[in-house]
Amino acid sequence: MALSFKFGTVGAPISNPKKPGGSIGAVHHIKALGLGALELGWVQSVRVSEETCALIKRAVKETGVLLSIHAPYYINLNADLNEWPNSRKRLMDAVYYGNLAGATEIIFHPGGYGGKTAKEVLPLAINRLADCVGEARRSKNKVTFRPETMGKSGQLGKFEDTLEMAKAIEGVVPCIDFSHIHARAGDGTMNSYAEWTQILEKYEKALGKPALENLSCHLSGIEYSPKGERNHVIMSESDFKLEELFKALHEAGCKGRILSESPNLEEDAVMYQKTWKKISGEKD
Ligand SMILES: [Zn+2]
Repeated sequence: MALSFKFGTVGAPISNPKKPGGSIGAVHHIKALGLGALELGWVQSVRVSEETCALIKRAVKETGVLLSIHAPYYINLNADLNEWPNSRKRLMDAVYYGNLAGATEIIFHPGGYGGKTAKEVLPLAINRLADCVGEARRSKNKVTFRPETMGKSGQLGKFEDTLEMAKAIEGVVPCIDFSHIHARAGDGTMNSYAEWTQILEKYEKALGKPALENLSCHLSGIEYSPKGERNHVIMSESDFKLEELFKALHEAGCKGRILSESPNLEEDAVMYQKTWKKISGEKD
């Protein structure tokens, strides 16, 4: 029986060998580490050729590693009229080249409130995102758009914001960053079995049971202030209660992928996988 979750890293593992190296090497190295998922971090800009994408796709097919893309950081669904075309292009470049590389999920940061409320910002954000998804579908690109749950209070991307986007647009589903949800609370809450169970119940209520069986998640240790996220740290050096989260995921019948964003990347990814086996009783 396969594990309900595939584990991996956001960005190439630190121990990625020099040859073949790069994204293609990273796909193979994830497999060699006994992991099953990789998220390529195209976080500054998308600078990849169609030829390279074809090679990444071949590596994905050969290994069975699940691939996702982290789109450039500087995307803002709430950007002003001048800036929006640039934001949109960054997202659509990730969508286009990610699809060519064999990725099924495109993760992106939805942007900022710009001093407004979520209620004021969401209609514009949803309109713009729907337009992006429409363009992808017209060119037969089926990738899932995954707005990430963000860790700071001024960022568009509270858990509920991402649910609103997903409810409004077919093909949009949240990327759940558990560490960001914990950090955004800012007071040490969102760290227990009961609290995670509530989040998963909300998710299922909004998006249905199949969505719970195809989660895309980020996870790391995290430091925070009352305003939310400060920085990512190694899981064991944080207050995050990993086993409580994993119990909630297991009890709710969740499946999908969990990607490590800890500074030690694959070391924590391997630890998550080991912990998951212990909590769930699953074997690979
Ligand atoms: Zn992110």
